Amino acid sequence: MIAFKQKYSKYSLPAFILLAGSLVIIIILNLDIFSYNHSIPEYRGAAVLPGYASGKNLGLSDIDFLLDSLNRDSCVANLKSSALSFYQSLEQKKQGGVPILVYHHVCPEHDNRDISLKDFADHLQILYDNGFRPIGLQEFLTFDFNLKKDQKPYILTFDDGWQDQFRVVHNQSDNLVVHDDCAIKVLQDFNRKHPDFNLRGVFYISLDKIPFGQKKYVSKKLNYLMDLGFEIGNHTLGHDNLASIPLDEFDRSIDEFMKNMESEMGFRSLMVKSLAFPYGSIPKDEAKWDYLNNYSFNNDSHSFLVFMSCIRKPCPLPGTLEFENANHILPRIPVSKNTVYSLIKRDDIYAVP
Ligand SMILES: [Zn+2]
Repeated sequence: MIAFKQKYSKYSLPAFILLAGSLVIIIILNLDIFSYNHSIPEYRGAAVLPGYASGKNLGLSDIDFLLDSLNRDSCVANLKSSALSFYQSLEQKKQGGVPILVYHHVCPEHDNRDISLKDFADHLQILYDNGFRPIGLQEFLTFDFNLKKDQKPYILTFDDGWQDQFRVVHNQSDNLVVHDDCAIKVLQDFNRKHPDFNLRGVFYISLDKIPFGQKKYVSKKLNYLMDLGFEIGNHTLGHDNLASIPLDEFDRSIDEFMKNMESEMGFRSLMVKSLAFPYGSIPKDEAKWDYLNNYSFNNDSHSFLVFMSCIRKPCPLPGTLEFENANHILPRIPVSKNTVYSLIKRDDIYAVP
């Protein structure tokens, strides 16, 4: 034993350093693995500036620009070259447009009524393989997107703010991370596998339930979604039927929602620029449209850019007569298990020429 000690003692210090070094590297790598794109950061409410994961910061002037951009001339003037050719070649078309898809539950297990996580991943793959790429709603409205020839833009939207859309959990290292069983995880995994698949889409939340469940994390989730590149939309305070409720409830339903968003996201609530009508019910009253079109939040003009319905057809391009005639009410296609299979065969879907 003594001979053994003498024989190997000269190696013990380097061996110890090597071992300790390896342990440190393993620990660092592990931490890195756990935090890679998953860990949800801390947010400080109103102190957080609106921004996209790409590092692009959107400020108040951008909001003005977005408002302006629904004016056709300033819109065309600001088009990126790929979007410009897209716009110019398609604006004369009478039929068709860009599909806006709407998902509700994305369940871990398929239960016949809803989309399962597996269905959802399949949908993303089928659309991707057929040249479809998701763009943001505000990117669509301002033509601020870059797609290659023959690629087809589409817009993902998710209604109601169910927990199966976005769930978080504490991992072994006690970091808050995205749960494996939710739509956001499927989207992040797909984005990692396909870098030209951007994380874009709109989550329309109503406050009749806790947005995405998990009361403790509402603010973090909303801010994290915006960091990733998603948008948040108004789906009313109580998931209200805006066509049938009286005017005073109508006003409250929209305004209280915005106040709640302000308390969760601070300054970022100014980025809530669209509203999805619950049940697809479009109000008819002139007074209600007056309120919507002249909406101001905290004495700040904050009219909504667009409204989402559930009319099953592709969305015409902003600035076209068809778009303007529709009062900025955009059609959306509700997704069932087989929707995307028929979508890829349709010939009224716009592609970049
Ligand atoms: Zn809904």
